[in-house]
Amino acid sequence: MNARVLVIEDETPIRRFLRIALEAAGLTMLEADRGRLGIERAATEAPDLVVLDLGLPDIDGKAVIAAIREWSQVPILVLSVRDGEAEKIAALDAGADDYVTKPFATGELLARLRALLRSRRPAETDRAVLTFGDLVIDQAAHTVTRGGVEVRLTRKEFDVLALLARHAGRLVTHRQLLTTIWGPAHVEDTHYLRIAIGHIRDKLGDDAANPRFVITDPGVGYRLGSSPP
Ligand code: CA
Repeated sequence: MNARVLVIEDETPIRRFLRIALEAAGLTMLEADRGRLGIERAATEAPDLVVLDLGLPDIDGKAVIAAIREWSQVPILVLSVRDGEAEKIAALDAGADDYVTKPFATGELLARLRALLRSRRPAETDRAVLTFGDLVIDQAAHTVTRGGVEVRLTRKEFDVLALLARHAGRLVTHRQLLTTIWGPAHVEDTHYLRIAIGHIRDKLGDDAANPRFVITDPGVGYRLGSSPP
């Protein structure tokens, strides 16, 4: 894992802790202690990944995400505080790709960063055929196979799975899934999603208690596991 990570965080002890953890993992860390400086460094240094604290002294973390998203699809992982559910979901809806809750364990943070670094291949997500182990999703033919056997999904189920697959390793919020697939009028209809995900798991033979493909983040959204087979 050789990549440059920009950490935007005003708390010096956390930046120090992150520097030790990231450098031990072979990553290069750039840092900014304010939101505006973070935006500037994101623009001038083109990092491979951004770690962003949502509580910054100068500007709101969501404004940092919006500014970076104007020109860049760099993966953004947000650091949120416990009980910051609404803020965290708003950050994901604004274009962040994942989050960890403070205080976080180094292992969890590095696992999230690895998944995001694996997912940053935009050219690949435009391909018609997406492959995850023995699961093959053909976006042109609208077919799904697992182990070479066709999996019969409804149109909506296919659309949900394909959207998660295009963002593999990233967290996709309920709002993003519902507005993209069912339309903005259905943004509150999370039961549509729960039912579709249940059917997708059944048809893929995925275990809801220990899913390999579609992973639930309760109250927030879903992600497609992108671990290599
Ligand atoms: Ca802070």
